[in-house]
Amino acid sequence: MEQPLNVAVIGAGIAGLSAAGELSRAGAHVTLFDKSRGPGGRTATRHAPPFDFDHGAPGFEAHDPAFIADLERLGCAARWTARTAEIHADGRLTNARDVTLWVGVPGMNAIAKALAAPFDIELRTRIAALTPCEGRWTLAADSRRSFGPFDAVVVTPPPEQSAALLASAGLGDLARDVARAAMSPCIAGLLGFESAVPLPYDVGVSAQGVIAVATRNSGKPRRPTGESWVVHAAAQWSNEHFFDDDSALAAALTDAWRAVAPSTADPMHVSVHRWRYARATTPLSGPLADASTSIVVCGDWTHATTGVEGAWLAGREAAIRLTSITRP
Ligand SMILES: Cc1cc2nc3c(=O)[nH]c(=O)nc-3n(C[C@H](O)[C@H](O)[C@H](O)COP(=O)(O)OP(=O)(O)OC[C@H]3O[C@@H](n4cnc5c(N)ncnc54)[C@H](O)[C@@H]3O)c2cc1C
Repeated sequence: MEQPLNVAVIGAGIAGLSAAGELSRAGAHVTLFDKSRGPGGRTATRHAPPFDFDHGAPGFEAHDPAFIADLERLGCAARWTARTAEIHADGRLTNARDVTLWVGVPGMNAIAKALAAPFDIELRTRIAALTPCEGRWTLAADSRRSFGPFDAVVVTPPPEQSAALLASAGLGDLARDVARAAMSPCIAGLLGFESAVPLPYDVGVSAQGVIAVATRNSGKPRRPTGESWVVHAAAQWSNEHFFDDDSALAAALTDAWRAVAPSTADPMHVSVHRWRYARATTPLSGPLADASTSIVVCGDWTHATTGVEGAWLAGREAAIRLTSITRP
């Protein structure tokens, strides 16, 4: 009987998990690796009772019927009709309207947890190098553990980190192609309040100030009652302040919050999170592959849609590409 294809997927974010699902349906045996404590990557949730914060993607639009069917089948997400508005520097609000977004329930990380359930995942395992081994691949982790050999590898970290892994494998051309994708950073402020914040919107966006998006996290379905907001700083500000210390960032984001919500009480909880690679600003047009070595690279940054849906579509495309490369 033919042995199943033994595939390593580096990164258990939405792209890696989507690729794993598609490969598994095609009969492959899949092992995932992630440097974090849990799956999800940028679809992340932090608990700080009585507050919860989705400090990465706050929610997302979905249009692809297969993606929506997956979300519905897994029961890990719900539609959230959010009151949105554009915030102006002079305090005016314009373009107030309701927008329906998908959110994970009870947190954004629930989607990745549900997608990850069928798989073996090596968590807290940062893969540092890929080594060829008689036509297959061995993975070396920071911890000096090694894994494999694998018949094929799907690489899903952000472009700069994927490029470093590919370079370690001697795949300089592929690394250079990957490095053409660009990402923007984002500093997130996690704000918890004593009582409900009386703003007339759940998602406020601004093209001018420090805060680009402010989301009432506790307004989403099935969240704890503690009033929580996540503010995402503008990309340029995030870049300029990326290495400021936590207390300086917390103070700056609290000041920025006061500018957005002048007549409301200050938060009783403030913490920050730095995303070095938050959003794809220059995505590539599809997964990258090296047919001779059975390596495929993908992420939200290899699909024009970008975002959570783009990551899911990119993972599926990468799996289909890998299956076509490896099919005898
Ligand atoms: C602040 C912010 C706001 C956002 N807003 C939105 C939005 O409004 N709408 C929307 O659709 N999307 C939004 N996004 C983007 C969305 O979260 C991403 O597009 C999507 O989650 C990307 O999934 P991915 O699997 O491609 O990458 P990731 O989620 O980054 O997954 C990559 C995984 O690889 C792991 N990894 C990296 N290097 C290694 C290594 N060497 N070894 C092992 N593991 C490794 C990481 O830990 C991570 O889990 C936002 C993201 C952020 C951060």
